[in-house]
Amino acid sequence: MRVATTIVQSTPYGRPGAVTVSLRNASANLKWKQPFIDGDRSSPPCLLSFFQGIRYRVRLNDGAMERPQPKPSPRESRVYVLGGNASTLAFVSSLRPEKGQVTAWLVPMAWTPMGVSLGEGWQRVSIAADNIGGWVDQTFPSEDERAFVTPLRDLEMLLRVGWHAEVPETLTEAMLVNPEDCPDDVLDGLEHPLEALTQCAVCRRICVRNHFIWNERQFCAWDYHGTVFSKRGPWREEPYEERFFETLPRASYVAPGLLQELSVEPVLAVAGLPEMRMRALINAAIGDEKDGAYLAVRTDEGLTLLRERPAAA
Ligand SMILES: [Zn+2]
Repeated sequence: MRVATTIVQSTPYGRPGAVTVSLRNASANLKWKQPFIDGDRSSPPCLLSFFQGIRYRVRLNDGAMERPQPKPSPRESRVYVLGGNASTLAFVSSLRPEKGQVTAWLVPMAWTPMGVSLGEGWQRVSIAADNIGGWVDQTFPSEDERAFVTPLRDLEMLLRVGWHAEVPETLTEAMLVNPEDCPDDVLDGLEHPLEALTQCAVCRRICVRNHFIWNERQFCAWDYHGTVFSKRGPWREEPYEERFFETLPRASYVAPGLLQELSVEPVLAVAGLPEMRMRALINAAIGDEKDGAYLAVRTDEGLTLLRERPAAA
């Protein structure tokens, strides 16, 4: 539903770079004033943007308002992010309490060397409407790894007006009421499709399913690199015989940043060529010089060859 909301007044407010905006909502017959207090933001207070499904842009130099582009929001799904940590992102889409409870959604989340991945299989929880802040603080205590919580001031306003939107089936940044309160890594993660997530068999941290499997166990990137590419990994000092190419370790990708502390470096990555030519390139790189230990990995792209860095003299 598109709510007809018009700007009826736009006046300079107090100090330079700020304006007061009065809005009238035709269908709900509401009228309120909202001072813009943060001169640097290009987006307005959440309440305004989300009532209209439209983002306003403020020209601060002349105090005038510029009508912005309507935002794509399929079926008017909107999301207010409450907070998150190393494994979970919590949001609400409705603040109309039922029997004193509102519904929050917990989205599994994995922080990988390639960025944040959001997961399928969201969990629904009920929170006491009069203690959302308490629930958020308890769920995402600041001592948790990667914990963040969003400011409650806008949430309180939304609760007061009984805000309600559709629960989305997936998440995009355009659906967020409060993107400016979310870490950049999380916003970047919203732009990728949902993934199947699972737990690492070693450290129990959330990781993307099937990205790193070793001995039929799901690993996170860190534990996979630390295990398979450690001293005990399948290193060799001579070219691979054909049959050994069938038994190479598999990984979705090799993260160079995780190789440094292992004293390992990637020396060749080949992709997009016929299998036989990729194998020939790997073996040519290993050569017969006996100049170190090598390990070839099969990735989503092709083959990557690693070499143990010689010990510093
Ligand atoms: Zn792990």
